Amino acid sequence: MRENKNFVTTESVIALISGLYVATGFAVVFSILFLLTSLDRAAKLDRANRVDIALNLETRYLKAILLEYANWDEAYDKLIVDLDETWIESNSGQYLIDQHGFDFTLAIKANRQVANLSISDEVKELKFAKIMSGGLEDLIEESLQDQEGGEGAVAGYILAGTEIYLVVLSPFKDEKTEEIKPDSYLALGRRLDTEYIGQLESSYELPGLRLTDKTENKMNSKVLLDGSSQAIGCLTWFVEQPSLLIAPKVVVIVTPFFCLAIFLTRYFLKLDYADRIAFEERLYKEATCDPLTNISNRRQFMTLCQQEMAVHRRNGGTLAVALFDIDHFKAINDTYGHAMGDKALVHLVQICSGELRESDIFGRIGGDEFAVILRETPLEEAINVVDRVREKIEACPIKANHNVITITVSIGVAPMNDYITFDSILEMADVALYRAKKNGRNQVFVST
Ligand code: GH3
Ligand code: MG
Repeated sequence: MRENKNFVTTESVIALISGLYVATGFAVVFSILFLLTSLDRAAKLDRANRVDIALNLETRYLKAILLEYANWDEAYDKLIVDLDETWIESNSGQYLIDQHGFDFTLAIKANRQVANLSISDEVKELKFAKIMSGGLEDLIEESLQDQEGGEGAVAGYILAGTEIYLVVLSPFKDEKTEEIKPDSYLALGRRLDTEYIGQLESSYELPGLRLTDKTENKMNSKVLLDGSSQAIGCLTWFVEQPSLLIAPKVVVIVTPFFCLAIFLTRYFLKLDYADRIAFEERLYKEATCDPLTNISNRRQFMTLCQQEMAVHRRNGGTLAVALFDIDHFKAINDTYGHAMGDKALVHLVQICSGELRESDIFGRIGGDEFAVILRETPLEEAINVVDRVREKIEACPIKANHNVITITVSIGVAPMNDYITFDSILEMADVALYRAKKNGRNQVFVST
């Protein structure tokens, strides 16, 4: 029976490596999740920045048109001083509405009185009072503050009625001296309607850009504030999640890689395991088997006998030990050579193995000396068995190299009893064997 020692086994290595793979798998999954959520967040931030940039560019464009008129003396004269309807029609009001898509142009004179208000066909209901109360008053205040250090041109959102307008406003200035003309302003407004939002959506590549009345400040939205910082609307947009595009590809790439790595690791470890088992088997065989005859060597035989004795003492029953020794074996070696002697040993083992039972313990315990433990066998029966073996050996000569060599064996038998040690029983069998030799060889003797 083999002893089980606690070494680092291939199974434990497989378990360890599997554990490492699982841990690495978790680390990779979490890293990828972190990376993907970071990408999603970056995409959201990028889109929000793009919306800001789009609105700034749009405001700058509107301001550029506004300043052309606000810094033009003729426009000031015709809009504020002369109120020249014909000029306004073809150079300012309706012209600007038609050419640049404004929904209103408004010239304001002293005391915040309307000098001219031109409106597009789409916003027929729009009135000066609505514009002023909707947030233009605040923009004028803002412009006044800005005039102290800057040019006074401002931009913002106003809510006139239910509609939101992007409005730019500037004081008129002297064309040459660039001095601000007091209390007169030009304001241009564009309604944030579906058409305008659609234009922004396609020009600045902002998919899903919409104007809503929700005022919650979420990642994919921007709250529009009027001049007094009141929320008057909200722009929302759609952001594709890069993770949704990347994740399936990552899964497709990483999963087979992991499966292959696990499969290869397990395959090579199993291969290694099989090699090791084979190597251990070989070592075990070398340590326990007689290399010539392939039966138990002396050490293994003794170990098996000790175990058998322990079982016998516990369970009782009958048991006998027999020692075999080839007669005049030296002579075979001397006459036919050592190789023939080896053949004789193998030949004897083949005959004994054929005659003895599977359950008997058989081993080579010396040069030409063999021993057998006959389990559950009374002495009489044991004598019969070993004598039958002796006769068979004598009756089966070795035929090799045109030689026919008859070998005989002398056998000593000793029965087991409850008070005897294994060493003693072996000694008794040895004495019986000695007596069989003395008595002429080729016979069975029983210890007395
Ligand atoms: P006896 O009848 O008294 O037993 O005479 P014997 O010649 O057999 O004497 P003994 O048993 O003492 O001799 C054993 C011989 O077996 C001595 C040794 O040279 C030979 N021998 C031991 N091991 C081997 C082996 O593996 N192969 C061969 N060919 N001979 C061996
Ligand atoms: Mg001998």
